[in-house]
Amino acid sequence: MSQESNPIDYAVEGPVAVISLNRPEQANAQNRELLIELDKAWDQAAEDDQVKVIILRANGKHFSAGHDMSNSNAQAQFEQDKAEAGMMKLYMHERKHFLGFSRKWRDIPKPSIAVVQGSCIAAGMMLCWPCDLILAADNAKFRDPVVMMGIGGVEYHGHTWEFGPRKAKEMLFTASTITAEEARELGMVNRVVPLAELDSSAMELALQIAKMPAFGLAMAKRAVNQTLDVMGQYTAIQNVFDIHSLGHGNAVAQCGFPVLVDLEKLKQAGKEPKS
Ligand code: ZN
Repeated sequence: MSQESNPIDYAVEGPVAVISLNRPEQANAQNRELLIELDKAWDQAAEDDQVKVIILRANGKHFSAGHDMSNSNAQAQFEQDKAEAGMMKLYMHERKHFLGFSRKWRDIPKPSIAVVQGSCIAAGMMLCWPCDLILAADNAKFRDPVVMMGIGGVEYHGHTWEFGPRKAKEMLFTASTITAEEARELGMVNRVVPLAELDSSAMELALQIAKMPAFGLAMAKRAVNQTLDVMGQYTAIQNVFDIHSLGHGNAVAQCGFPVLVDLEKLKQAGKEPKS
């Protein structure tokens, strides 16, 4: 039986580490294996003295479709076991793999560039938000439709910081899509380039940054991140993670499954969500 290939490609080109999401047939949907391998790749880039800049990109048409909700038996069983063991297990799992990973990647003391094409949905944004710069192809689009599942948004609440409060609410309330150009105007995306030039533009930018002294880059990054934290960014993100977890608790209470409130299933059973 053929095994799925490594969900992450890792390469070093001169002073630049290139980490590629590699589940193109699944639109780079994130299963546990992908996240664990991705975390290892970030570690590898962080520890390699040759690497001064990190590029995070994706193979295929789309950056990432978010968490893998294809409900393979193993994944469904995993979530179910967590829920049956009590919400704390699920809470700790998500805290480590979603909130914790994103926070850790955000503070790696080397500049990072997310390179986004096609769809970047829900947890897809949790991979690019921790990066320092975001370069988007002109076909990139961003969306968090998690409210449709009865939960207030993905685990790592970057929305308000990245889009501003009103646009964040509009995006969440309507599950609407933000285009690359709109994301640039809102300040989330640094540059929008034609799709065909995406990788070459990213490498050009990475090599330009790599000419700077590594220590200066690390201190500049820390200065900006520290400022955001003094403004309350990470405290807010942690607090919102607890609100997210309440969404899972509500889903368990309403339909016995922690990942989503299956509105259709509830309707068929003649029930409506209580809130
Ligand atoms: Zn969650």
